[in-house]
Amino acid sequence: MSNISIDSLIRVKGCPYCELLERKENIVYQPRKNLEDCSFVIVICPKEKREVVIATEHLPSLARGLDKLALFHARKYKQSNVSLRVDRRYVSDHWHAYIELI
Ligand SMILES: [Zn+2]
Repeated sequence: MSNISIDSLIRVKGCPYCELLERKENIVYQPRKNLEDCSFVIVICPKEKREVVIATEHLPSLARGLDKLALFHARKYKQSNVSLRVDRRYVSDHWHAYIELI
């Protein structure tokens, strides 16, 4: 029997986004009260110094349909008609999408 807990979040040491999440830093918006209940949050990207939606776990994609929910929350946060641009250059395997004004 393996001893892996299904409750533990997938986080990777050395990943800048995972480290922000571990320290609860740079978070400017989260869709639910508890970070543990969120699939994604909006943070200030430490590299580009602008808002980026990131998965709360170190996964290359969001679960089905959650990208549309992420867009809804980005628009709610910015109070504006924004788009999301998925980017894989900074951290290729941690899903993130920069918020861009349309
Ligand atoms: Zn990560």
